[in-house]
Amino acid sequence: MMPTISINDAQRLQLQPLEIPSRLLLGPGPSNAHPAVLQAMNTSPVGHLDPAFLALMDEIQSLLRYVWQTENTLTIAVSGTGSAAMEATIANAIELDDVVLIGAAGYFGHRLVDMAGRYGADVRTMTKPWGQVFTLDELRTAVETHRPAILALVHAETSTGARQPLEGVGELCREFGTLLLVDTVTSLGGVPIFLDAWGVDLAYSCSQKGLGCSPGASPFTMSSRAVEKLQQRNTKVANWYLDMSLLSKYWGKERTYHHTAPINLYYGLREALRLVAEEGLANCWQRHQKNVEYLWEGLEDLGLSMHVEREYRLPTLTTVRIPGGVDGKAIAQQLLNEHNIEIGGGLGELANQVWRVGLMGFNSRQESVDQLLAALRLVLP
Ligand code: PLP
Repeated sequence: MMPTISINDAQRLQLQPLEIPSRLLLGPGPSNAHPAVLQAMNTSPVGHLDPAFLALMDEIQSLLRYVWQTENTLTIAVSGTGSAAMEATIANAIELDDVVLIGAAGYFGHRLVDMAGRYGADVRTMTKPWGQVFTLDELRTAVETHRPAILALVHAETSTGARQPLEGVGELCREFGTLLLVDTVTSLGGVPIFLDAWGVDLAYSCSQKGLGCSPGASPFTMSSRAVEKLQQRNTKVANWYLDMSLLSKYWGKERTYHHTAPINLYYGLREALRLVAEEGLANCWQRHQKNVEYLWEGLEDLGLSMHVEREYRLPTLTTVRIPGGVDGKAIAQQLLNEHNIEIGGGLGELANQVWRVGLMGFNSRQESVDQLLAALRLVLP
């Protein structure tokens, strides 16, 4: 037998067993997974076509419909992080030269612009200063001007902490034969969402924020209008892995093999969704709201102010202005190194201007807020 090469030996001899510090994740995500979710993920995998696993997939579908408040048949988890589910909406909905209008008032709106361009869309971008949202009148003017096949908006812009109101947008889109695509990565489970009542046609999310799971199994849904557009395509979906005409046969009655699902992540997602259902969706939303208001009060008592106007602030993610003369990065480092608390820094237009504090899923608790405020009292100058 060939000897293993000596370079590997050096690495092998130095390798220690896994040791990860215990952190309180109060940044933009991931948040800490619920202990029951971690326990579920610690279950031995079965085959991805085992009847027990197929039944679990059905449960995930029903529970996702519940947390999104939708009856959409094509509601599944994509095997991948939120960006994979994001790309799935784009890949399946867009055909070459489709006019796609995107509201970009933060980092993730701009990511949608990038992705849509890669799939050959004729992208039209609406922008706003980071932290602001689009009014219904502004959206109407833009839709009237561009007559897009798809309007894409970010419900919860994680880079700014702003909540984009969606009431009335679905009706507007229907008037113009436009599909409405919405990013709910930082809203699902923590912010009221009524996909069907709002007329949303395509939505995606993630597992590691409001749902309190680990990253890697990401909710995706498509309305019958969006499915119709998919069925009428002239060209194949350009991304094989995310093609819903194939994936829907794995999640639907046919149960045709597509890829090997990340079994244990799906166990975790199922448990995370079960916990939301047990708590009750409205109660879960109220808990997020109550705890974030407690956070805002505590931060104001420390002399800090929030970046987003109160009406549009997210319950899941708060952008806190870094006071003049304070080194925001150094404070975040100190929180991590001395207190095992992670918070985020600003991105793009808000780089070095804000901290981003997340209270998502399992971490939306008064104890998390108390722990952060106590640590901030020690580290702030
Ligand atoms: N969209 C928004 C609003 C996000 O906050 C994120 C991640 O934080 C994503 C998309 C991408 O998700 P992921 O990092 O899970 O790929």
